[in-house]
Amino acid sequence: MRLHEYQAKQIFSKHGIRVARGKLATSVEEVGKIAEELGGKVVLKSQVLIGGRGKAGGIKKAYSVEEAVEKAKQMFGMVIKGHVVEKIYVEEMIDIRQEMYAGLTIDRASKGIAAILSSVGGMDIEEIAVSHPGKIAKVTVNPKWGLWDYQIRELLLNSEMPREYWREVTSILKTLYRIMVHYEAELVEINPLVATSEGLIAADARLNIDDSALFRHKELEELRDYTEADQMERIAMEKGLNYVKLDGSIGVVANGAGMAMATMDLIYLYGRKPANFFDIGGGASAEVVREAMNLIMSDKNVKAVFINIFGGITRCDEVAMGLVEALGDVEIPVVIRLAGTNEEEGRKIMEEFAKDRRNIHIVETMEDGAEKAVSLG
Ligand code: GDP
Ligand code: MN
Repeated sequence: MRLHEYQAKQIFSKHGIRVARGKLATSVEEVGKIAEELGGKVVLKSQVLIGGRGKAGGIKKAYSVEEAVEKAKQMFGMVIKGHVVEKIYVEEMIDIRQEMYAGLTIDRASKGIAAILSSVGGMDIEEIAVSHPGKIAKVTVNPKWGLWDYQIRELLLNSEMPREYWREVTSILKTLYRIMVHYEAELVEINPLVATSEGLIAADARLNIDDSALFRHKELEELRDYTEADQMERIAMEKGLNYVKLDGSIGVVANGAGMAMATMDLIYLYGRKPANFFDIGGGASAEVVREAMNLIMSDKNVKAVFINIFGGITRCDEVAMGLVEALGDVEIPVVIRLAGTNEEEGRKIMEEFAKDRRNIHIVETMEDGAEKAVSLG
């Protein structure tokens, strides 16, 4: 789970890393009010869960309340790499002397935590590594021991960090490491970490928490901001369905992960992309089938659906009854293949149902089904 900048900054600040004064706004009026409180000279920062906002126009400076209001009007509703701006973090403008980088991330290759420091910042870390290889340093931290002081010194020296910042950077790195461990994060990052006349400030903040550890951090789970795809996956999760949203147009429902994957492969083979992965599980009941269909139909990209069920524990007639209920008012083409346990009974129910519905198609094999769904979608 990725936190918004303003949320990450709250946490960083609570642990002693300095950030600029700021407040979150969800309307132009609020931006005006906050800008006034902060003295007029502010930076408007769109809160979207994507990097590179600066380059995409998602960060704007304003030198007066009026200018802040004007810029906020332009910024709300803006689409940054597919994310709509609905929240703006308004911060007092800071006077930047130098931009730097500090970050920690899980490093699978070394089975440790990579601590990275650079005396250059404000651009992607990958970019820094290419354009300023002499100003970036990395050490691997063994989580068993934690971040040693000698490792911090190595980072400071190898990144050519100006001596005047050593003390503060040391303290910031230690704090970031504490945050990383405490919140079970995958990534903590300050880019840029900026030098101002009052010391070092985190001008941006990133904190990604390991989803598998979220249950231990209930207070963070409440901060979660769902994108549309997340929303659908969350609904599926709550209902115990195994669903992953994808960006194609053919909805896929199958029982068993292997069946779902094979069905998706066939959709690709016939030249289209699946809209989702959907495994309704071994013992899928009529109820589950109905939930699955509802979820798929709420995806506006779906042009046709291929339901591919192999009855084992799941009986085809049970699935068929669920389909009859679920497909009542579905208008887009739906292709159905039922095979396995109680196949005959299941198919009979479906054929009866499909008689006066021209959008329902019963097929015998997976290949026929995929081909048909692709041709209809
Ligand atoms: P990102 O592009 O999504 O990583 O957003 P950042 O928060 O890192 O902002 C991008 C750039 O905007 C930074 O590298 C800074 O140069 C600039 N910036 C961000 N916040 C401030 C600020 O408070 N004051 C000033 N002067 N510049 C800022
Ligand atoms: Mn940044």
